[in-house]
Amino acid sequence: MDGAMRAARAGDLAEPDYAAVAAEAAAALGVRLDRGLAAAFLEAIYVSGAEGGKAAYPDARPTLEALRARGFRLGIVTNRAFGGERFRADLREAGLDIDWDVIAVSVEVGYLKPHPRLFEAALDALGLAPAEAAMVGNSLAEDIAGAQRLGMPAAWKRSRPDADGVVPDFTFDRVSELLDWSLLAEAARVR
Ligand SMILES: [Mg+2]
Repeated sequence: MDGAMRAARAGDLAEPDYAAVAAEAAAALGVRLDRGLAAAFLEAIYVSGAEGGKAAYPDARPTLEALRARGFRLGIVTNRAFGGERFRADLREAGLDIDWDVIAVSVEVGYLKPHPRLFEAALDALGLAPAEAAMVGNSLAEDIAGAQRLGMPAAWKRSRPDADGVVPDFTFDRVSELLDWSLLAEAARVR
């Protein structure tokens, strides 16, 4: 999966066919799996959410709730190999089940960030132009550059930089600092 994802990121950003990747990996070990079995195998061994060591930042949920109280609609734009109920369960476990206005998952849309299609899927669902939205993320290459290329302002949660020459519109360390970004002062004022 890592190899397929790396190749996609370096190439056309089309989401890899993970069932095919799993079938190939099994075949290399002398195990023949049809597509359905390969997909089921992958689902069974794939570790995500809390099990994968992922937890929400403690100020994430209060920050989201504060943004919603200011009138913002909230969405997720994420690169991941499982969407649907699996991802919603991960969100619930992390305490981030806040009745999102849109959830755009790469494996469901067919493209990985920074491909514009994934951002556009979220924008279209919300009926927003890029300039009416803001992206928040920790990857300069995927989140910040991807959003800015469409004309969407982007805030970066400072992490190990994964791209050169990308200048975020806002940079923060603690999630709650987002509430100080002038752009997010009030939804109505942004329009
Ligand atoms: Mg990220």
